[in-house]
Amino acid sequence: MPLPVTRREFLKLMRTGALSLPLLSVGLEELLAQGDPTQAEPLVWLKGHHSGIHSAPLFSASGYPAFMSRFFRSLGNEPTSEALAGHPILILEGSFSDDALLKVHQTLNSWVSGARVVILLGNEAAYGNDRPEGYLDLEAEILGDNPLPIIRIPGLPAQPRHLLGVLNHLLLYGLPDMDEFRRPTLFFENLICDRCAYRGAFESGDFVKHFGQKEGCLYLLGCKGPVTRNDCATHHWNGSNTWCVGVGSPCTGCSEPLFPTHHGLGMYGQLSHRAAGVRTGWIRHSESLAYTALGVTAVGLAIHGFTKHSLGQYQVDDSEES
Ligand code: SF4
Repeated sequence: MPLPVTRREFLKLMRTGALSLPLLSVGLEELLAQGDPTQAEPLVWLKGHHSGIHSAPLFSASGYPAFMSRFFRSLGNEPTSEALAGHPILILEGSFSDDALLKVHQTLNSWVSGARVVILLGNEAAYGNDRPEGYLDLEAEILGDNPLPIIRIPGLPAQPRHLLGVLNHLLLYGLPDMDEFRRPTLFFENLICDRCAYRGAFESGDFVKHFGQKEGCLYLLGCKGPVTRNDCATHHWNGSNTWCVGVGSPCTGCSEPLFPTHHGLGMYGQLSHRAAGVRTGWIRHSESLAYTALGVTAVGLAIHGFTKHSLGQYQVDDSEES
């Protein structure tokens, strides 16, 4: 039985954080556990090396197959013609070595040819950054020109909530809206900085200058919040109340394609004022100058008025002298 919400309501609930991980699980369960397990939605989740969503207990390395099998029908590892006929949702996670003996390339190609949609989960699969030699470039070598819809769920690690949110959306309403990098706008629309508790400090230029110095805006310590789109600032991590910035660590921009180098800045290199949209010292100075000018003008007008008034009081009436 589908969740009793419209797409608009679903998006709103997700954006406000009302649909937490457990609720999304319940949603999937209600949607998919409809009696006959052979009719459940088919899902194939292929895990390469590295990355993933291993930090969440729900998806711990050994736990997630069992967790997901509550909702989906597993098609096994082999892309048999019968399995491919099921047109599964295909999740690719991590990096895949081009192992000829294991026929990795061939297996991936087969699954992609039969899938209805591919979810690239975690940074290694989503962006392929820092791919070691001998590992496949998923985009160029596997997905190629295939018109198959692709959804990127980046992050280091990726948020389990994002994956369950996307799966719910796929099954309830179809493909979610996506940005230029094919990330669901549901989670990756807003800049972290725009939702950060220290936005006021950012605007006023009240920056933390040393690690551990105080709570506040970490822009000078290399925070990439001004150029990173994700919902960490509002929904935090693992159902807790905190996130990187909340514990004094700058946002590393882990869900951006430029992570981790960020054009040579690295994780702790400070973004330029222009890139971050910081109102520079000069602009702030200009504002002070403007305010000073306004003040001087006001004072000038006041003096002028006072002088005029004074002169008026003591003005010699020429007409009387003539
Ligand atoms: S620069 Fe970082 S710490 Fe400062 S407001 Fe933006 S996200 Fe928050």
